[in-house]
Amino acid sequence: MRLLLVEDDAELTRRLSAALAHQGFAVDHADNGVDAEFMGDMEPYDVIILDLGLPQRPGLEVLKNWRQRENRVPVIILTARDAWHERVDGFKAGADDYLCKPFHVEELVARVQALIRRSHNKTGESLQSSDLTLDEERQQVKLPDGKTFDLTGTEFRLLRCFMLHPGQILSKTRLTEHVYDQDFDRDSNLIEVYVRRLRDKLGKERIATRRGQGYIFIEKSG
Ligand code: CA
Repeated sequence: MRLLLVEDDAELTRRLSAALAHQGFAVDHADNGVDAEFMGDMEPYDVIILDLGLPQRPGLEVLKNWRQRENRVPVIILTARDAWHERVDGFKAGADDYLCKPFHVEELVARVQALIRRSHNKTGESLQSSDLTLDEERQQVKLPDGKTFDLTGTEFRLLRCFMLHPGQILSKTRLTEHVYDQDFDRDSNLIEVYVRRLRDKLGKERIATRRGQGYIFIEKSG
């Protein structure tokens, strides 16, 4: 899952980026409204965390511009404490959720995870797809026979991407974008290595190869 964090407070950015990366998100960052608007239109983010008080262009305007261009990326706005009118304006502009500063990082992470599940029409505390259950807290996957495997950070991010898009062809490029952030030296050949490791754990039949196109997560019923 790939996030864009738009925040001009360097210290807060550092803390949030570390916590989100720890939870297995690839995090890009913008510290002003102009860059944020551009990046939000160019890159396929799963969620954008948008501070409203930004240099160069206010967050509210950035959000309105995205929505005007039919960019429906899920957005959580960060608002000043007690500024109820900011939250109302934010929702009117197309925000999906909000958080008042100051907040606990854990709450932001929980809201991001919930928003991603909602945007993919999934509910509940863990992600379920096919007959697998992904525990986002522990970064473990549970098989239907009750067997549980710990996943490395990259395996976890890759499997989450597959489980959120069952039955869809995902190209290596697209998977790479969701597994690594912008600073990482992206090597799409590594995806092959990680797909192989997931197959070893989950069974070969769950992830099919489409030659020249990418991979498909096969959804099993029951
Ligand atoms: Ca700010």
